[in-house]
Amino acid sequence: MPQYYIWTIGCQMNKAESEGLGSFFEQRGYQATATAEKADIIVLNSCVVRQSAEDRVINKLNALKSLKRLRPSLTLAVTGCLVNSDIEQIKKNFPHVDYFFKPGDYPQWLEKAERTQALPQHPPPSVYVPIIQGCNNFCSYCIVPYRRGRERSRPVAEITSEVRELVHRGAKEVTLLGQNVDSYGHDLPDKPDLADLLIELNNIDGLARLRFLTSHPKDMSAKLIETVAYLDKTCEQINLPVQSGSNDILEAMRRSYTVEHYRRLTGEIRGKIPGVALSTDVIVGFPSESKEQFQQTFSLLSELRFDTVHVAAYSPRPGTIAAKELEDNIPAAEKKRRLNIIEQLQEGIAAEINAQLLDKTVEVLVEGKQKGKWQGRTRSGKLVFFSDNGDYMGQLVNIRIEKTSPWSLQGKIELSGIN
Ligand code: SAM
Ligand code: SF4
Repeated sequence: MPQYYIWTIGCQMNKAESEGLGSFFEQRGYQATATAEKADIIVLNSCVVRQSAEDRVINKLNALKSLKRLRPSLTLAVTGCLVNSDIEQIKKNFPHVDYFFKPGDYPQWLEKAERTQALPQHPPPSVYVPIIQGCNNFCSYCIVPYRRGRERSRPVAEITSEVRELVHRGAKEVTLLGQNVDSYGHDLPDKPDLADLLIELNNIDGLARLRFLTSHPKDMSAKLIETVAYLDKTCEQINLPVQSGSNDILEAMRRSYTVEHYRRLTGEIRGKIPGVALSTDVIVGFPSESKEQFQQTFSLLSELRFDTVHVAAYSPRPGTIAAKELEDNIPAAEKKRRLNIIEQLQEGIAAEINAQLLDKTVEVLVEGKQKGKWQGRTRSGKLVFFSDNGDYMGQLVNIRIEKTSPWSLQGKIELSGIN
């Protein structure tokens, strides 16, 4: 049996694409292998959102050179954000790679197959479904629109039949993906929006939970918030990257909203969706970010108290507006210092938020086992562990929380609560 190996780095979108690719290989009779050395086909699904990610991709590509030299019959393909529009140029840089294909563009032999053929035969309880590719926003620091092109939404009917099929094959929870998921649909003939799609998917029998990420504050509508509040399967979890707590930095980032707008939006979300978990992304050390501007970010995060904060140090990406026009003038050590400060703040906040769940009972979808413990997530997306000898894979169970930390919860199963 021929063997395939997929190496993935980057966002959920990349992970979802790799999963699709993996199942397609399996259907063609390939078998997954855990080591690149044994593979007949290797696909690198790349990310260049930060310099560190790009460096890892390049290192991996260089490491594979000797493997290809030893075994010229090996097929090596690269996808993801490294693959820009100038494929001829990257081909020159990496002559040992056989194929480059753009994210979402399966290579020719993959494209011919029906999309549903690429669905896994036995999906895990929780699956990702991309609904919109690309991004139209051109935030000044971000390389995504250059690498993934403009926004392209998949039709409602196509997504609905895919989700129905995944549920039929065993999936219980679906996370809808897009770089800018809440702008879904504006490019389709009937202009459905994300709320319309959620209403449609909420009707699917056997589906227990729906989520979506990542939302842009400028596209988060009152209709969407009300729909999330109203629909029973749509979980109380919103990912809403703020990026900075300073209006001047937000403007330089070209984020097209203000701190005041963002604050109002989170107030509306929390007012309408009881128990909602909010997460956000923040960049520290953006060009010219002063100590006061950083302090504004710190204050905003202290005030809004997110469940999760993903913090990154600014990394100039060649070709972006910020890299062309703004000097990367915050020293690396200062960026690291600011990053650590935010991480420490958030650790304390998450510890306090999670501690409120002590002695409470939460619904958990069991996704697997880790180090002998069952693991799953609450509707709000919190990681929960529990020990029990039964088989709970893919089940919704009630867990009484006995221990909490900033990152996860631990508890005991309440046997009367199994669905
Ligand atoms: N579309 C989403 C949004 O509007 O925030 C997120 C997409 S982006 C690929 C994921 C996160 O990476 C961003 O929220 C941002 O915090 C971070 N990021 C993107 N470009 C970056 C850069 N040049 N330097 C540091 N972090 C960056
Ligand atoms: Fe990048 Fe901004 Fe688009 Fe997010 S919204 S993918 S940060 S350009």
